[in-house]
Amino acid sequence: MSYRIALAGLHMECATFLPHVTGHDVFEAGTKRGPDLVETFHNSNTVMGGFLRVLDEAGAEPVPILHADGGAAGLADQAAVAAYRQEIVDGIGAVRGSVDGVLLHLHGAMVTQDELDPDARTLDAIRLTAGPHMPIMVALDYHANLDAQSIAGATAVFGYRYSPHIDMGATGERAARCLLKTLRGEIRPAMALARPGLILPSIFSATDLVPLKGLVERAKRASDDAAGYRDVSLFAGFAYADVPNCGASVVAVVDGTGEEAQALADDLSDQVDHHRQALAAPVPVYGLEECIEKACAIAGASDRPVVILEHADRANDSTHGLRHLLALSDQMRIAVPFLWDPGSVAEAIAAGQGAEVALCLGGHSAPKAGGPIRVTARVDAVKRDFRYRGTGEMRAGSEVRLGDSVLLDVGGMKISVTSLSQSAIDFDPFLQFDLDPKAFDIVLLRSKTHFRAAWDGFAAAIVIIDTADYGPADISKLPYEHARP
Ligand SMILES: [Zn+2]
Repeated sequence: MSYRIALAGLHMECATFLPHVTGHDVFEAGTKRGPDLVETFHNSNTVMGGFLRVLDEAGAEPVPILHADGGAAGLADQAAVAAYRQEIVDGIGAVRGSVDGVLLHLHGAMVTQDELDPDARTLDAIRLTAGPHMPIMVALDYHANLDAQSIAGATAVFGYRYSPHIDMGATGERAARCLLKTLRGEIRPAMALARPGLILPSIFSATDLVPLKGLVERAKRASDDAAGYRDVSLFAGFAYADVPNCGASVVAVVDGTGEEAQALADDLSDQVDHHRQALAAPVPVYGLEECIEKACAIAGASDRPVVILEHADRANDSTHGLRHLLALSDQMRIAVPFLWDPGSVAEAIAAGQGAEVALCLGGHSAPKAGGPIRVTARVDAVKRDFRYRGTGEMRAGSEVRLGDSVLLDVGGMKISVTSLSQSAIDFDPFLQFDLDPKAFDIVLLRSKTHFRAAWDGFAAAIVIIDTADYGPADISKLPYEHARP
């Protein structure tokens, strides 16, 4: 028989220490409804893309409701989240009698002014409307903060295995396959969660770092090598959301009993606990001056760029590294892709392509962002309402929206400036502005783990700076009220 499956998503990662709130306008710009949802995500490495692929293959009919995305920033606005939640609930209520199941995409680390686990509230509201017997399978980000209550409304949940999130589509596929198997009566999923009690800063959550790599492989083997149906997800959690369930967790889904699922989740959680010390410091991080000295020395002896990773910046506009690198721009070829500064973009566009313009660049978002820098820039390129389809492994086929954007030349340094905040993770930020990533000695990135899919093995070295910003590697510096580090 042909199944009809409702599709919905409400997605945002919230660093709660950042002072700004992401409002309805930002969500709405990233929101797709009905047939537009299918059109947008079809053939992309996204959760929705994965859902659609499996439904297509099975001849099942997608019933697209809504996918809203606030990206990654500070708190999500309560009114906006409540409105999208209601729209999803109303959409599912309207088709309840004619759909067989629900596929849902949440992040798992959303926080609003009023709710510490809004994803749980969304899931509970959908469960209430869908009824107790409707299978609801949920795909979550690897950086989800979870406890048993967070996922109580789901029949089964699935997390990305990797960071860089190269398997977002594959995770959607895992959830959709489990849903179809359940509907066909091939399996009866039971689920359990375990928490090792560990908070990992994002910079250390890259899944090619040891010992995390081995733990992720263990989760995958526990899923793939099982005789019956099993799926084990390891979640790193998101350290910069100050919530009671902040931290790592393991979720096991089995065709069997809750006890069997619990034993499987506990087993991997115990392994995570066992490696606690090594997980907390898998790579060195440096202070600003030491980092730049180190990067310059390596760049001078290599024909490949050195990545300086200003990972503590959660808004893509910090100027700590940029300020130091400007002093070196006459000696080194330096690129700073995707600096977020809509005001400077507007001024550069008003000056026009080829013009020289005085700007107060970057550092506007918050007090810890390093403050703006006065520069004189030449406007090399102007791109109005700029968007493209990603070509890197993680963003393959996904729409990347930057808003009005410019490429600036500041004393030889190439800085692309965007109106929407977007992390530079792959080579698209260069290629889209006709730049060759190999043509630079130093590249300043603000990604935490996602850049590794493109830059590991390509860069001469990756040197991590820990600046006085909102996402430090030393999380003991954070003023947690709700989390238990
Ligand atoms: Zn993530």
